[in-house]
Amino acid sequence: MAELQATQKMKTLLKQYFQDFFSLENNQKPKIAWCTSVGPAEVLIAMGYKVYYPENHGAMLGATRLSSDYIPVANAHGYSPDICSYLTADIGSYLRKETPLTKAYGIPSVPPPDILVYSTNQCHEVNDWFNWYARKLKVPCFGIHPPWKIETMDEEKTSYVESQIHQLISLLEEHSGKKMDYDHLGEIVALSGEASKLWRTFLEYGKLKPSPISFFDGCIQMAPAVVLRGSQAAVDYYRELTAEVKALPKDASAVSGEKTRLYWDGMPIWGKLRFFSDLFARLKTCVTVSTYCNSWIFDEFSDLNPVKSMAAGYTKIFINRSENFKEQTLVALSKEFQVDGILFHDAKTCPYNSNSRFAMPERLITNHKIPCLTINGDLNDLRCFSEEQTITSIETFVEQIADSRRRAGA
Ligand code: SF4
Repeated sequence: MAELQATQKMKTLLKQYFQDFFSLENNQKPKIAWCTSVGPAEVLIAMGYKVYYPENHGAMLGATRLSSDYIPVANAHGYSPDICSYLTADIGSYLRKETPLTKAYGIPSVPPPDILVYSTNQCHEVNDWFNWYARKLKVPCFGIHPPWKIETMDEEKTSYVESQIHQLISLLEEHSGKKMDYDHLGEIVALSGEASKLWRTFLEYGKLKPSPISFFDGCIQMAPAVVLRGSQAAVDYYRELTAEVKALPKDASAVSGEKTRLYWDGMPIWGKLRFFSDLFARLKTCVTVSTYCNSWIFDEFSDLNPVKSMAAGYTKIFINRSENFKEQTLVALSKEFQVDGILFHDAKTCPYNSNSRFAMPERLITNHKIPCLTINGDLNDLRCFSEEQTITSIETFVEQIADSRRRAGA
């Protein structure tokens, strides 16, 4: 499918977002907080911080393939090639005093932080990542530590995280010298909730047959859902984007002549998005749904009880759930998005978002008759990825699906 027109607007919004970190307000530099991508950003925004997301930078390093230059720099400083390659690419780029943000948005460096806030809802490596910067830049660092691998959410777990968010608010009040305005926090959480609903609407166009959007559109369109959440700009953007997709002709398809539909589980391989999108187009296969893009849907967010709703929304994310919960979710989404099979990306440096390691594909094949394939790769470290092997595996998988369809007479 051709590029969606709204994308041009997104580029302008992102440029503005990055340049704002360096523009003076009343002759003063803005207070800047760094936050993990599913961390409690709304609290920081409500307290007047401009929020920067290092994982977004990590993804950018991957997409531009600069990660291949920077990961070895972090490795040479003792950071293992086996740990998160967002972390190693980001730290390597910091040590080299280079960033693709300069070329893309004309800013001199990553925005210098006044405070660092992470949540281990996604993984524990963010703790090491953010604390590296805390030591290096001598800025305070605060972590939220939700319960891990949750089977069912309940009041006790929500309250536990809620109390940690209140501790964070106290720290921010002390750090900024301002009191939290809870009505304002409610407004910010409501804006995040609204953008999240529209993001869901966009992704759910993948249920249509043929699908007008693919996982690769999602990877491009998700930036505002991450870095602009809590803003009216994100709401307006996704309103425009969903209206554009809604207005497409009924038979519009992301992949011309769509024959096979797949689920992508796990991280994108940022430096190979074009490779995969071309490969799937050639195989007339559309990736209609993914765990990754769905990660920024927060149905719980509410202005009525902003802290509690954030505690619930950010704790119950897919990556933080039990194997059993994940299995049920994969089965349900496979049905809803009418996929023929699931492709698991086993990312070498992100075990947390690689769901094939504890026999999930085997259970899905045996118990639910869903064809599955696991490919090896990595989000950013292209040393872990082989194009030839991947092409052979995916071609064979798509052919097997077509064969069973033929045998079933479909
Ligand atoms: S979830 Fe994976 S990719 Fe994200 S920060 Fe953690 S290890 Fe890195």
